[in-house]
Amino acid sequence: MTSSSEIIELPADSPGRRLHVMLHRFGTAKSRPKVYLQAGLHADEMPGPLILHHLKSLLEDAEIIGEILIVPLANPIGFAEWLHDKPQGRRHLASGQNFNRGFPDAPTDTPDENAALRSLLLSLSQDADHVLDLHCDHFAVPHLYTTPRHPERTDLLASCMGARLALIAEVSGGHAFDEANPGGFAATLEYRGQFDVSDALAQADALGLMTYLGAVGAIAPQGAPLHAPAPHLPLAGALEALAPQGGIVTWEAAPGDEVHKGQPIAQVTDPMTGLRLPVPAPCDGLLFRQELWRLCLRGQSLAHVAGREPARSGDLLSD
Ligand SMILES: [Zn+2]
Repeated sequence: MTSSSEIIELPADSPGRRLHVMLHRFGTAKSRPKVYLQAGLHADEMPGPLILHHLKSLLEDAEIIGEILIVPLANPIGFAEWLHDKPQGRRHLASGQNFNRGFPDAPTDTPDENAALRSLLLSLSQDADHVLDLHCDHFAVPHLYTTPRHPERTDLLASCMGARLALIAEVSGGHAFDEANPGGFAATLEYRGQFDVSDALAQADALGLMTYLGAVGAIAPQGAPLHAPAPHLPLAGALEALAPQGGIVTWEAAPGDEVHKGQPIAQVTDPMTGLRLPVPAPCDGLLFRQELWRLCLRGQSLAHVAGREPARSGDLLSD
């Protein structure tokens, strides 16, 4: 088995600033299948980088058949972005651009460090047979996003990672990283919420990815997936529950709950007037994610429920 690690330096926007990406390669170059895994493109989401840390250890003792590339922390720009003692990492502070939107870049005369990073990541992933981009949500059950083009791989991936649902769209409208890799199977994997970071979870999730890598022939077979396949639901059917007023959010339902349209899933309390208003579920379906903050503004999106029927069009991803 061959493995190597390299540090890839990126051009930085200011003198003295140093940016680099660590790339781990397993197997022989040009062997197939090629699998590309990255995490931390949203640099405030740490379940994925920890999963890839554990996966790397597992791969060091595995029989590699194809070629596997791992970028455990894909966004050094976002990882270094803190504002008033709070980590940012979802949007480029200088431009406001969501780090996982707008792929691929249109060429410009003055490429900046973020453009250089994006083009590096795409150059590593472009010819891969499998592109897995690891993310997480605020509070959520495991789920994934992909296109309808490879339903059998979607089933396999969901059953390896224990996803509760697969959200399907031919075009999400956000130009996320996975969609800029149309040559093979590409998916965005959501490993629960931002606080679901532990070695026990990451080790189990890394073993799930080993099962996937074995099943697609990138490594020697690892046995059967531990979970049942997840339902494929239209991304256009995932609807937002909106705050009826500004105030304090208290939840009456949790990610993973099946809810009915109109059912109160939370209360919003205005601490000044004392008025409490319910937050109705927008449709029947699985409440799969909730917002992080316990305060809200009127009209703000608080949660998503995955319904069975498409009900939206246009740009389907939250920003
Ligand atoms: Zn993300």
